Amino acid sequence: MEKIKVLIIGSGPAGYTAAIYASRAALSPVLYEGMEPGGQLTTTTLVENYPGFAEGVDANSLMDQMKRQAQRFGADVRRGAIVSIDLGSRPFHATDERGNELEAETVIIATGATARYLGLPSEKKFRGLGVSACATCDGFFYRGKDVAVVGGGDSACEEATYLAGLCRKVYMIVRRDVFRASKAMQDRVFATPNIEILWNCNTQEVLGDASGVTGARLLRKDGEVFDIKVDGFFLGIGHHPNSELFSKWVETDENGYIVTEGKTSQTCVPGVFAAGDVQDARYRQAVTAAASGCRAALDVEKFLLENR
Ligand code: NDP
Repeated sequence: MEKIKVLIIGSGPAGYTAAIYASRAALSPVLYEGMEPGGQLTTTTLVENYPGFAEGVDANSLMDQMKRQAQRFGADVRRGAIVSIDLGSRPFHATDERGNELEAETVIIATGATARYLGLPSEKKFRGLGVSACATCDGFFYRGKDVAVVGGGDSACEEATYLAGLCRKVYMIVRRDVFRASKAMQDRVFATPNIEILWNCNTQEVLGDASGVTGARLLRKDGEVFDIKVDGFFLGIGHHPNSELFSKWVETDENGYIVTEGKTSQTCVPGVFAAGDVQDARYRQAVTAAASGCRAALDVEKFLLENR
């Protein structure tokens, strides 16, 4: 059985930042990349809001730089996923997908979240060509254009108001005749003149051509089918935190996000820390994930010192 000080699970900005800090603290972290090396960011193209890149940076090369930065200080970055883990007692036991077993003094969970999509083939076809699940990442490309946002929760309302500041018109496609969002968010939407809410509507098809998205075909509850013309089609129907593997051990909220203590990354299991989108339903930015990865590594360092 391989014995290690820190096991980091996940390879988004949170995981790699934790690995950079932990390796520089001589903790020899082992990081498993998981199913989606580089994390959610790799589903976008150009990242323009990560500080330090005046002209923006390609998402894949940003993640590659983070990985190489962690490796430069000795982080052991491994392909594949952790498929089972026992957080019942320290040291913790984990098994990877090749059957290798590890004994870890501490664990940083940085498995991220996955945006929900409607599941339409046309939506998949135009992903990255007008279909996006991140208004803050991609909204800038639709300045002065018309876009649609699907969903009626806080995320959708937040995306719609953000996009309304950039775009000419924003359609909100809401499947019921009420929002799920908090009253404050709803009020913000109602007070934004260039948002038009299409109540009781479901998307049948994302429309497009070789240049990308051109519109959407909607079905209203009363049976009417109609098209809207948009250049961007944004999903705001929620995210799914990748916390299943750990939910038997660590506390999660009603949406599955791992609960951490105060401003720290400490979960309810001493020695187990969580960073990035798996514990953050609110900010979900690469830079906030990276910051929480830093916090998790510092928390691990302190924990190991105090529990020698
Ligand atoms: P929610 O689950 O709260 O809302 C999802 C929305 O998408 C609902 O309106 C839902 O409709 C709709 N939806 C779901 N599936 C479909 C589908 N297949 N087709 C059409 N519409 C669909 O997710 P959010 O991401 O908005 O929020 C998650 C959590 O994060 C919440 O607790 C929220 O409060 C929090 N949050 C807080 C923010 C803040 O405070 N600034 C910002 C963003 C999120 P229906 O209502 O009919 O189920």
